[in-house]
Amino acid sequence: MASTFVLGLVVGSFLNVCIFRLPWGRSIVRPGSHCPSCNKSIAWFDNIPVLSWLVLRGRCRHCSTTISFRYPGIELLTGALFALVYWIEVELSLQWVPGGPDPNATTVHWRYLYHLFLLCALIVATFIDFDYQVIPDSVTIPGMMIGLVLGCAIGQVHLIPAWIVPSALERLYIPPWFSAHPHVHGLIASAAGLVVGGGLVWLVRAVGYLVLRKEAMGFGDVTLMAMIGSFVGWQAAVLTFFFAPFFGVAVGMVQWLLHGESRFAYGPYLSLAALAVVLAWKPVWEWAAPIFGLLMLYPWLLPTLLVLGLGLLATMLVGGRVVRAAIGRITAVTAPDATEEAADPTADSPPAEPRPDSPLPEPDGPKDKDDDIASGENPLAGA
Ligand SMILES: [Zn+2]
Repeated sequence: MASTFVLGLVVGSFLNVCIFRLPWGRSIVRPGSHCPSCNKSIAWFDNIPVLSWLVLRGRCRHCSTTISFRYPGIELLTGALFALVYWIEVELSLQWVPGGPDPNATTVHWRYLYHLFLLCALIVATFIDFDYQVIPDSVTIPGMMIGLVLGCAIGQVHLIPAWIVPSALERLYIPPWFSAHPHVHGLIASAAGLVVGGGLVWLVRAVGYLVLRKEAMGFGDVTLMAMIGSFVGWQAAVLTFFFAPFFGVAVGMVQWLLHGESRFAYGPYLSLAALAVVLAWKPVWEWAAPIFGLLMLYPWLLPTLLVLGLGLLATMLVGGRVVRAAIGRITAVTAPDATEEAADPTADSPPAEPRPDSPLPEPDGPKDKDDDIASGENPLAGA
C-alpha cells in the first residue's frame, strides 16, 4: 500500500502538468517541466514530488517565484487516493458483489489498475473545471477510449454485468454467455455505460435548455459522464448521476475555500459521486439491486420513470421561473409601465417570459460554460 502511495505521488506530478497545460491545448510531453515565471527548465532533482517543493521551500531555484502549494497538494491527494482505492479494492476486497466477476488476485489487481485510469481522469477534469469552468474534450475523449479499450481487453473488470435477469428479486441471474465471452461483455458493459451516462446528462441538459432557453449544463458534463459510464457500466453511471447533487454541498465548500466565491461547476460533483459509488459499490448495489431488478422485470418501467423524472424536472424549472417572474413583478410594481402590464389580464405574453423592455429581472441561471470547448476552441485564447 505504501508503494501505491509513492506511485500516486509520481502520477500526481504528471497530472499537475495535464491540469496546467490541457486547457491551453498544449502538449503534455514536450517541452519538459519549466518554471512558468522565468522559463528555466526544472532539473530532475528539483522535480521530485512533494520533497523538492519542501526543500526549495515552495520557491523556484532560479527566480525565487513562489510555487503554489497546489502542486504538492495534488501530488499528495493523488497518492492518498491511489492508496485508499488499493486498500478498499484489493486489501479489503469490499466491492465484490454476488453476481459480479470472481474476486481472485488477478481480477482484483486488473480492476484496481482500470480504476486508477478513471481516478486520474477525474482528478484532472475536476481541477480544470474548478479553474476554468470547462472540462476539455482532451481529457474526456481519451478517457472514454481507455474505458472502452481496457474494458474490452481485460474483461471481467466491471462492477456488475451489463445484463442481469432477476430470477427472484434477491438473487440475480446472469446469462451464461457473459462469463463465456468476457471481452465481448467488457466492450458491451463499457459501451452501455458510455451511452447511458452521457445520454442521461444530455437529456437533462436538453430539457433545461428547452424550458429555460439557457444552457443549464455544459456539454463537458455530457462527455465527462459518458467517460465515467465507460469505466463503471450503466447501472453505476445512473447511480452516480443521482448521487451527484448530494456532494454539491461538500464540493461547494472546497470551491469556496479555493476561490473565495461560489461558482457553478457540476463536473466535480459527478467526479466525487463516481469515486464514492466505485468505492462503496457493495452497499450501494445492495441498496440499488432491487430497483434494477424491478426495471429488468418490467421493461416499460424505465422509459416511464425517465419521462416522469424529466417531466418533474421541467415542472420544477418552469415553477422556478414563474416564482422568479412573480417576485420581479412585485418588486417592479412601482414602475409605471409594469403596473399597466400587471393590471391588464389579457396581456398575451406568458408571465415567465420577460420582454426586452420589461423591468423584470432576467431569470438568473448558471453561466454558459464549455461552449468554447464544445466548438473545439481554446477557452483562454482571448485571455
Ligand atoms: Zn523560475
